[in-house]
Parts: sequence; structure tokens; C-alpha cells
Amino acid sequence: MTANHTAPPRRAPIVAAILALVLLPVAVMILFAVVTARKALTAQIFETATSEGRGAALSVAEDLQGKRETVALVTTRRLLRIGAARRDRAEVERHLREVLASVPDFERAFVADPAGTLWAHHPASDESVVGRNFADREWYRGVTVQNGTYVTGAYERAARPVRLVHAFAAPIYDLDNRLAAYLVVQDAGARLGERLARLSRTDQPGRGTAVVDHNGRRVFHVGTPGIPAEIDLRPRDECVRSALHGHETVQRLTQGDEEFLIVCTPVPDSGWATVTRLPLSVVLDPVQAIAGQLAGGGLVLLAVAGVLGMYWARTFARNRELLARTTALNRKIETQRERYWSLLDSSADGLALADGERTLLYMNRGFGRFFGIEDVEALVGKPVNAFRERLVPLLEEPEKYLQAMEYLWSHADATSDFEVTLKDGRAIHFYSHPVRAADGALLGRSLVCRDLTREREVERIKNEFVATVSHELRTPLASLLGFSELMLTRELPDDKRRQFLELIHNESKRLNELINDFLDLQRVEAGRVSYRFEPLEAGEFLREATALYANRPSHPLRLDLAPDLPPFAADRNRLMQVMHNLLSNAVKFSPRGGEIAIAARPAGGEAIEIAVSDRGLGIPPEAMPGLFGKFYRVDSSDRRAIGGTGLGLALCKEIAEAHGGTIRAESVPGAGSTFRLTLPLKPRRIAPAERRRTAPVTDNAPHDVLIVEDDNSFAALVQEHLAEAGLTARTEPTAEGALAALRASPARMVLLDIHLAGSLDGWDLLITIKADPKLAGIPVIITTVTDRRERGLALGASDYLVKPFPMTDLIGRVRRFLPEAEPARVLVVDDDAGFRTAVVETLRHELHCVTDEADNGTRALEKISQRIPDLVVLDLLMPGAADGFAVLDALRARAETAHVPVLVVTGKTLTADEKARLRHGMARVLAKTEYSRQHLSELVRELLGATAGPA
Ligand code: ADP
Repeated sequence: MTANHTAPPRRAPIVAAILALVLLPVAVMILFAVVTARKALTAQIFETATSEGRGAALSVAEDLQGKRETVALVTTRRLLRIGAARRDRAEVERHLREVLASVPDFERAFVADPAGTLWAHHPASDESVVGRNFADREWYRGVTVQNGTYVTGAYERAARPVRLVHAFAAPIYDLDNRLAAYLVVQDAGARLGERLARLSRTDQPGRGTAVVDHNGRRVFHVGTPGIPAEIDLRPRDECVRSALHGHETVQRLTQGDEEFLIVCTPVPDSGWATVTRLPLSVVLDPVQAIAGQLAGGGLVLLAVAGVLGMYWARTFARNRELLARTTALNRKIETQRERYWSLLDSSADGLALADGERTLLYMNRGFGRFFGIEDVEALVGKPVNAFRERLVPLLEEPEKYLQAMEYLWSHADATSDFEVTLKDGRAIHFYSHPVRAADGALLGRSLVCRDLTREREVERIKNEFVATVSHELRTPLASLLGFSELMLTRELPDDKRRQFLELIHNESKRLNELINDFLDLQRVEAGRVSYRFEPLEAGEFLREATALYANRPSHPLRLDLAPDLPPFAADRNRLMQVMHNLLSNAVKFSPRGGEIAIAARPAGGEAIEIAVSDRGLGIPPEAMPGLFGKFYRVDSSDRRAIGGTGLGLALCKEIAEAHGGTIRAESVPGAGSTFRLTLPLKPRRIAPAERRRTAPVTDNAPHDVLIVEDDNSFAALVQEHLAEAGLTARTEPTAEGALAALRASPARMVLLDIHLAGSLDGWDLLITIKADPKLAGIPVIITTVTDRRERGLALGASDYLVKPFPMTDLIGRVRRFLPEAEPARVLVVDDDAGFRTAVVETLRHELHCVTDEADNGTRALEKISQRIPDLVVLDLLMPGAADGFAVLDALRARAETAHVPVLVVTGKTLTADEKARLRHGMARVLAKTEYSRQHLSELVRELLGATAGPA
């Protein structure tokens, strides 16, 4: 058994890999989030900046619009119009005072005539401007050209300190709608400044908004805009210029260490623009802060992911390790299970287990074999009824089985056994007992079945034997005792004495016949009878065989010979014995006058058939199957008085089969019987062991390798390669044939295919070989197309090769597993030490045998009883109680040594009797006069190579 160790997988690389897998995506995600957030926030900042710019521009536009409307309203005032038309300075100035008072933003207002000369103004303190002409001024030109309210841009007031103001100008018409004068209002933009300051958050340093007129001059500003504060504020950059052309622009500006965003926005309906300045730090700081927070969060996330990854990785690694261990354990359990199942399957007995609910839990293949159920696995898990349905049709008396099982199922604790007979004559014994767990809980019920047919047959033979012996021995013995006693105790007249002596003689003969029959059958069965085949002429042979029975008035005899009977070969004496048995039975079991017919005819060109028919009692059909069994006698009242041993037909069968022929009986009870003996024209000697095989084996000599393979060409190929490697091989296409071959002569190795021609497969054969103590040691290499290596090795195969495979591979493995051939053991028995040494020398050096020596018969028999040799080299004339003949007889008398080949090496001149005795003892003879090393080697080689059996 090999232990199944699996090294635990190394954890560190797995943990690192999983960590990398978890952390990498998290890091990428965080980076992506930071970049996206930064981008989005920056866009938001730009949006904020531009909307702040737009807000400023709108405020400015609103402010201008309001003042423009105010000025337009003022110029339509009736009194001002009349005053201006009349050039009534005082009245106009009074109106101007009212206007300035109602609009706090306006800080100065004056009126000029259409030629541009100023003649009224307020506040009056600024007298210096009266009489000045403004015709060249921009605002003046603007009003005259537009002929409506006009907003001028920044211009410097002459007053000191210089400051920029903007003005509103509008024409004043008289009541007749003639141009009377122009009104100009100056505004320092104080209110607008306040509004813009609120909008622009000027409390933040560096932040501010400026308003630029259409010339690019700064009208005013709030905060600390970075736009140069010169009075002539010309646009110097692209940003302001494009705003004055109506396009909103944003620009980044660097001043010293600081960076700003400059937003230039056009002010609607004015040609002006606002310039809003935002320090970049102000807008970027929150972005930076958020990005920082994101990065920090990301790091935390990364750390959490790391910890989690570490945890998962370790858990994963641990689970993997656990899985590997579990898998190894499962494999081990599976192997064990296969072993147990194989063990159970290899049992010749049938084993089954069902639970309390009558569900079949297990059934071995042995069970299936008994009842011809190939798919036992299909029954497992089903109710036992499924099996019952398959079994019942096979039973002779199903009720017996059903009742017995019903009783067992209804008595959970009952243990019982019973026997059933199958319709094919087999006797099956069932044994069932409850199965309990270790704690005593009832698990179910087992059912074991065993084929007792052979035992029953032996029992029958024994009973018949006892009955026959008691009857057949006692009857003549009673006569012998009775008549001899009479003769001893009485004075009898001579004729009486003679009559009694005749009776004693006849009864003795009868006894002798019985004993002869019995011993004969034993010898024939053991294969110890030698057959001498000789050509026979059927007509002549049958006339001789029937001569004894001819001319009997009680039973007329008819001989019916076909004209074209071919000559055939048989052992004359043995065949006579068969004819004698058949004819004496025909006479015995026929009433007086019953004709007996003997017919002979050719059978199929290659055989001859001899039939013996009578018109006697006949044989009942139920007796037919056992008719040729030993001690089998039909038991019926009409034949009880007829003597017999029940051995005659058994002997006939043995002899017929030894010729390669058959014998069979046909009968109509009450009308007669016919026995047909069919013999091949050229008999093939068949040893008894060989006759019992299921499949014929062509070559029975020992071989190195037995190839069990149904693919002839593949087998031939393997055989060829084995021969090249110096190994002998033979092939068997079926498991049955292979088993018979192995039992007759075990090979040193088996090459086994799984798919075979017969009803058993390679698994069955492997299981059987490994379960047989005599064969289990033979290494088996499986060579097949399906890969079930585990199962093969579990069942005991040495190796497993999946087809196709290179032949060199196969030969290599064969060499690896081929056991060393055991040298033959030879016992040399001779009283001549010099001759013994010469023989031993030859055996050891030329034939590599292991030798043992004995100098007389008694010692030889002792050694043989300790260890049976493969060959005995035997001298005949030796001192002591046992000579060579005695040794030979003793060998043949014991079943274990009956087959041991014997080579008699003798200097004795043999008589005909002695020769016959040696032949009978199946010994080969080498005369010492013909002895040579070479001759001895040849004979020994032949005897060691030959099969056991008669010479
Ligand atoms: P035996 O004749 O000594 O009893 P056999 O083996 O020759 O033994 O025969 C076995 C049995 O077969 C016989 O006992 C007999 O019942 C039956 N039998 C054999 N030959 C015949 C026959 N010709 N007619 C009727 N029964 C026969």
C-alpha cells in the first residue's frame, strides 16, 4: 500500500499575487477619481469666474440703463424745456438742482447750447466752466450724432485730484420740438461701485472688478484689480479687446509670484466691458483641498483594500490547502473503496445488503453471476423487489424463496438460511442476518448466497456410493458367508458342495467386477490409464463385441451395419468395455424377448456413430441429466431388484471423451432406450484435466508470457516482439480460456486486455487471478484502450499501458516485472555414486537444474514426501526394501506425485512384463548402454517441457 502524501501548497506567492490583484485596481481607481475630480472642479472654477464676470457686467448694464432713462426723463420736463428755449439760466439751474437732488449718483449737471457752449450748470461753485465750448468733446459729438441719450466713457475731470467720471448727455427740445440745448450729467459711479464691490467680494486680497469704456479706459474699479491704474487705460491685452468686441474671455495671468484668472465680459448695450480678477490661489485652494482629501481617502481605501486582500489571500490559500488535502483524502478513500469492492466482487459467494426500507444498498458481482444479472449496479438504490422480479423466473419453487424472505423482512432480528433450486438444476443456499451499526442500531439485512450444486452432487454420490456398496457388497458377501459356513459346518454330498462352490465363485466374481469397475473409473478419471489407439474395422469389431450376447434366446440381437463404414482408430480394449457396459445394460433393463439392436453408420465424414437400442424399461426424463454421473442409478420399483453399481455409464463417458468422442442417451419410458456413441475417425488424445476446460487451449506447454487478447493481429505483433526478446508466449482470446490455461500450466507473466471475447472481461480475470493463491503471484500488465490505471493497480495489476504504446515500452516493462524463472528440481536416485555424479553434473551445468540425490528407493521416497521434484531420474535395481519399480508405483499411487515425470536409467535387460509395468507407470526409459550426456539432456529437456499426464 502506498501512502498518499501531498505537500501543502506554498502560501507566500499566492498571498502576494492576490494582494497585487486587489491593490492594483484600487490604486488605478483612486488615481482616476483624483484626476476626474480635479478636472471637474477646475471647470467649475472657470464657470464660477465667468458667472462672476457676467454678474458684474449685468450690474453695470442695469445701472447705465437706469441712469440713461433718468436723463431722458429729465430732458422731457416741460419747465426745463421752456427754460432752455428761453435760455433762462436761473430757471434751468433750478431744475438742474432738482434733478441732482433726486438722483444721488449724479454729482454735476450742466446745459449747453446746440453750438456746444455751456451756459447753465449746477452746483454753481464751478463757475469756470461757463462759456466754455464743448463742441469738440466726444460726448457732445455723440449726442448730436445719435440725437438721443448718450453715455460717454471715462474722462478726466479737470478738477483736482484727477479722477475718471462718466457722463450722460441728452438733447432738450422746446415745446415746438425744436432743439433748444443739451443736458449733460456727470456721475462718479459711487453706487455702481458699491454694488460691484458686493458682487466681487473685494474683501479677498487680489480680487476685484474694473469697468472699462469703449475706448478701453477704466471708468472705475472696485477691489484691487491688477489692471494698471493709469488714467489712460488702453486695452493692452487680447482679453479686454475681445470683450469690447462682444466676446467673453477668460485668461490666466502671472504677476510676480501670483497667478490670476482674468475674466473679461462685455456690458450689454453700452460698448463697455467688465474686467474681473480672481487670484488663482483663491479658486484652486478648494480644488487642491478636495484632491488632497480624495488622495487621503484613496490611501485609506488602499490600506483597507490591502488588509482585506491580505485576509482574502490567506483565506484563499488556506482553503486551497484544505482542498488539496481533502482531494488527496478523497482519492485515498476512493482507492480503499475500490479495493474493498474488488475484494467483495472477487468473492465467489453472492453478497447483498438492503436497508430496513427494503432498498438494495449493495450487491456484489458474484450475486449477479449466480443469477445472470450483468448490471448489478442498476439494481442498487432500487427496492429489493426489482431483484426479486429478476430472480423469481429462475426458481424451481418461487414460493419457497418468497415465503422465506417475507418471514425475514417481517422479523427484523431473525437470522435464517434456506436453499432453493434453480430451473437449471443448480442448488443455491441463502443466508440472511440483520446488520447492525456499532451502537446497535439496525441498519438493514444482509443476504449471502452460495452455489452448493457441487456439494450436493458430492453428497448425492456419497449417498449413492454408500447405498450401492451396502447393497452390492453385502448381497454377494451374504451368499459367500452363508454358503461357506454351510460347507464348513455340514457334511454335504459332492454335488451339493460343487453347487455351493459354484455359487461362491459366481458371487466372488460379481464382487470382483464391482471392485474392478470402481478402481477402473478412478484410474480413468485420474488420467492414469494409457490408451493404445489402433486402426479398427467397424464391422469386425462390432461382431466381436456382440459375440457374447448373440444367440441368446432371451434377448434377440440385431446388428445393422451401414455399407460404407470407414475404418477408425480407437483403443480396442477400452471400446470393448464400453460396448460390454451398454449391451449388459440393454439386457438387464429389457424384459425377456426384448430385441437389442446395434447399428453403426458414418457421422459427418469425420466420425462414426455406434448406437445400442433396446425395447426395455426406458429412462424417465428427469433421470437423463444425471445418467452419466458416478453411482447414478434410476430409482424405481421396477428396477430395484436389478443389480448394478451406477458406474458403467460414467466409465463409458470417460472413455468416449478420452477418444475425443461423445456419448448420449435417448429414451421413451416403457418403450426402450438408445445409447449413441460418436467417435472421431482419428482420435485426439485428450487428458482429463484438459477435457474439463471450458475453452480449448491449443498449446499447453509452459510459457513465459500469456497474452490475453481478442485482437489476433495485435496479439501476433506482441508475440513477435516477445520472441525477439527471447521470451515464449501464447495467446488466449477469452478470460475463461486464459484461466484454464493458467491453471493447467501457469505462465510467468500475463499481458491482459480488458475487452475480451468471452462472457467475462479482463477485470473479472484479474480479480480471479489475484484471489487464487496459486496464481496470485503472477505479475499482470494490463494493455488496453481505456485509461483506468487507478482501478487496475488497485486490483493488483503490476502495470498499466494504454493502447497504442511503443512495443519497446512494453518489452521494457515485461522485463522489469518478469520474475526469474525457477530452475527445475531433479531427484537422481541411483546406488552407483559415480553414475549419480555424472548425471548430476550434466543436469546442473547443461540444464541449470537444482539437483538432489538418493542412493536407494526408501531415501528417494522420503525426499519426495518432503518436497515433490519436477523430475525423477531413477535406477531400477537398488539395494533395500524399495527398488525402482516400488518407487515408481509409490509415486503413481499418490495423487500429488502421480504426474511427476520419471526417467528410468537402467543397466537391466527388461522383460516384457517389466516393460509393460514401466509403461503403465508412465516412465520413459534410457538404457545405460545407450547413455550419453547429450541423450540424457535431450530426454530431460523433453520431460521437463512436457505436460503432466500419461506418457
Ligand atoms: P448400473 O447398470 O450398474 O446400475 P450404469 O451406470 O450402467 O449402472 O447405469 C446407470 C443407470 O442407468 C442404471 O441403474 C439404470 O437405471 C439406467 N440405465 C442404464 N442403461 C439403461 C437401459 N438400457 N435401459 C434402462 N435404464 C438404463
